Amino acid sequence: MLQNKALILDRDGVINKDYGYVSTIEQFHFIDGIFDLCQAALAKGYIIIIITNQSGIARGYYTLEDFERLNEWMVAQFDKQSIPIRHVYFCPHHPDSLQPAFAKECECRKPKAGVFYQAAADYNLDLSQSIAIGDKERDMKAAQTAGVGTRILIASAPHCAAAQYVVQSHAEIMVLLNDQ
Ligand SMILES: [Mg+2]
Ligand SMILES: [Zn+2]
Repeated sequence: MLQNKALILDRDGVINKDYGYVSTIEQFHFIDGIFDLCQAALAKGYIIIIITNQSGIARGYYTLEDFERLNEWMVAQFDKQSIPIRHVYFCPHHPDSLQPAFAKECECRKPKAGVFYQAAADYNLDLSQSIAIGDKERDMKAAQTAGVGTRILIASAPHCAAAQYVVQSHAEIMVLLNDQ
C-alpha cells in the first residue's frame, strides 16, 4: 500500500515564537514564513502533523483545557490559510508533576520517539520520506530514533549531531524543501 509522507512540526519555536510555556492566543505569534512553508509542503504531497511537548500542563502553568482552547484556535488559523493540520499530538506529562494524571515517565515526551511511531501507525507514514522540523536537540533526537529521513533544526547554535540541517530561518527551510 502506498504510504504517506509527512511534514512533522514541533510547535513552540517552529510555528510560533517561543516565549516559554505559551498558553494564550495573546501570546501566540506565528513565525514569519510558517504558512508559506506548509503550503509548499502540501504542494509536494506532504501531510502536516504537529508533535509538541506540553509539560506546562504537568507543571500546572496552564490546564489541559487552556491547551485545547489555544490548539483549536491555532488549527483554525491554519485552516484559514487552506492548510489542513491532520493531527496535533501533544505530551502533557512530566515526571515531577504534582498532578497524578500527568506525573509519569512517558513515551510521548521528546526526545523519546513514541509519538512519531504513533503518528506513523495512525497515518500510514513512511517516516524515511518525511521531514521533521524542530528548534531543540530533543526534537531531532526523537525524529532520528524514529527514522525520519530529513531532520531540520532551527537554531542559533550550529551543533546537533541528530540534525542533518541547521538553519536560522524559515526562508532557509523553504530552500531545502524545494530541493526535496
Ligand atoms: Mg520547540
Ligand atoms: Zn507524555
